[in-house]
Amino acid sequence: MLIGVPKESKNSDDRVSLIPVHALKLTRIGAEVQVETNSGKNAGFSDEAYIESGAKIIANREELLKTSDILLRLGKPPNDEIGKLKENSIHISFLDPFNETGLVSEFKQNKITAISMEMIPRTTRAQKMDALSSQANLAGYVMVLLAAEKLPRILPMMMTPAGTLKPANVFVIGVGVAGLQAIATAKRLGAKVTAFDTRTVTAEQVKSLGAKFLEIDLGETGQTKDGYAVELTPAQLDKQKQAQKDQIAKSDIVITTAQVFGRKPPILITKDMIPEMQKGSVIVDMAAETGGNVEGSVGGKTVDFEGVTIIGDGNWSNFVARDASQMYSSNLYNLIEEFWDKEKKEFNLNLNDEILQGCVITNQGEIINERIKNL
Ligand code: NAD
Repeated sequence: MLIGVPKESKNSDDRVSLIPVHALKLTRIGAEVQVETNSGKNAGFSDEAYIESGAKIIANREELLKTSDILLRLGKPPNDEIGKLKENSIHISFLDPFNETGLVSEFKQNKITAISMEMIPRTTRAQKMDALSSQANLAGYVMVLLAAEKLPRILPMMMTPAGTLKPANVFVIGVGVAGLQAIATAKRLGAKVTAFDTRTVTAEQVKSLGAKFLEIDLGETGQTKDGYAVELTPAQLDKQKQAQKDQIAKSDIVITTAQVFGRKPPILITKDMIPEMQKGSVIVDMAAETGGNVEGSVGGKTVDFEGVTIIGDGNWSNFVARDASQMYSSNLYNLIEEFWDKEKKEFNLNLNDEILQGCVITNQGEIINERIKNL
């Protein structure tokens, strides 16, 4: 089977979906690998490194798209590239299938088997393929560093003959994978960290990182079998906003990572709350590009709102493109290896397997994923 790696379509993306070490591993299990020229360059992986790993470098993108049996990408493909893929080939990438109905229908019409990395189930067996987690982990780290860089203060306490500086207050809203890493990173930098999540099971995790959990009684909240938050009612959301107001006002940095899988993120910080923060404070809105948790954040940009910096850049793991590529590439390798038929030397698309049932969206001209089909 021929596995293809095109250069990412978004010019701003420095990451690459497969790094040389995993190209080598794929060749060892009997696959052939072809990589578009300069695909790994911005993440620090040269064409020579791919060649040494047994991969072929291809200058002609159209040829790579047309001949690959499996195509590996990070970002979703441009709609007009789907018609250029080999019929019945497998396309693996992030897809945002809940919102990208046009894209899903292109895959269907062109008889491409589309695998969405967002839809890998959150089970113990699939953990090694979980790209949402690998990228969110790095995002948590990056968001703290970006905020620290904008903040006109230091994060740790500092006692010097010139006086004592108090530690900065950091408030993390949403304690999933990114939130936990943000807490750990801010703690390592010496900040005083407080956090909140509607899933009460996170309180222990917050405390075990040495941070404080903000107690808010919202009544019945909960989580799905996959560990995702259940959406709050409007009354619960209002209560949460009121209860967080003081904590936000006294924070130097607020990092929001609150998400409800498959829905728009809830607005948790409204415009009236922002001027209550000290001038120079920083808010990072992790999901600014898809609506975000903060009124006034702008997807893809860092903006000033009444003296408070709001960072909404997005694509956070791309700031550490080399590590992000390594982790994503490892997720992809683990996915392929899990379903690799060693004798036939091909990917076995076993649709009875719960992992593939979760993440395969289209196959043989049909939308076969139950959740996407029923949208
Ligand atoms: P996510 O990105 O969907 O959401 C981020 C966080 O926002 C979640 O913790 C959620 O509870 C929280 N949230 C939602 N609404 C909120 C609100 N109004 N206020 C505050 N917080 C709010 O979640 P994620 O980071 O992808 O992880 C979700 C869960 O999945 C976690 O329990 C995580 O441990 C679990 N997980 C399990 C596995 C596995 O078992 N293989 C792998 C990864 C993650």
